[in-house]
Amino acid sequence: MSNPVRVTIVNVGYRSTNYWVVSAGTSRLLVDLGWPGTMGKMRANLRRMGVPLNEIRYGLATHYHIDHAGLAQELKQAGVPLLVLDAQVGAIPIMKAWTKPQDRYVDITVHDNVVISFPESRPVLERIGIPGEIVHTPGHSDDSVSLLLDDGSVFTGDLTHPALVGESSAAVVSASWRLLRERGATRVYPAHGSVRPMDAESIA
Ligand SMILES: [Zn+2]
Repeated sequence: MSNPVRVTIVNVGYRSTNYWVVSAGTSRLLVDLGWPGTMGKMRANLRRMGVPLNEIRYGLATHYHIDHAGLAQELKQAGVPLLVLDAQVGAIPIMKAWTKPQDRYVDITVHDNVVISFPESRPVLERIGIPGEIVHTPGHSDDSVSLLLDDGSVFTGDLTHPALVGESSAAVVSASWRLLRERGATRVYPAHGSVRPMDAESIA
């Protein structure tokens, strides 16, 4: 019988954005990857929360907006491989258009990322001791993904709160929330704001 290590979650976020470290013992995954030009801040927060950079097995951006993937390349240079879902590949070069020189954004190279499909996510996570999967949850952007752990914790990035869905993207956002609910999500770790229970009633 296997004896799974308990998964723990800590927030290393700053500037109104949550960056989550999911750990199974000393095997860790960083969910969302900082603002551009803030590697010093990220390093300091990881240190303060007791997370050695060299224990982070992958960085995962819930989507390629600069407050979520701004440090992806610098983290790679520091030894953290970038885990990219195939649905996200096209969004990576586009993100650069939203940066200004003073942001000190380091462009993400595309040849050295770990690109996987959604079905491959479970075995990839299993190899680093984290039981769960990565689910495609478009709505905020087409490249948005959520990390869903088997304990029901779900990291949803900027997926619009189900109660605040506007007219334009309502169907896509609602479908993403329905998918997460069907797959067992119970507790939401958003990129902005507080951890909250899944608000199942407000999901259309
Ligand atoms: Zn965003």
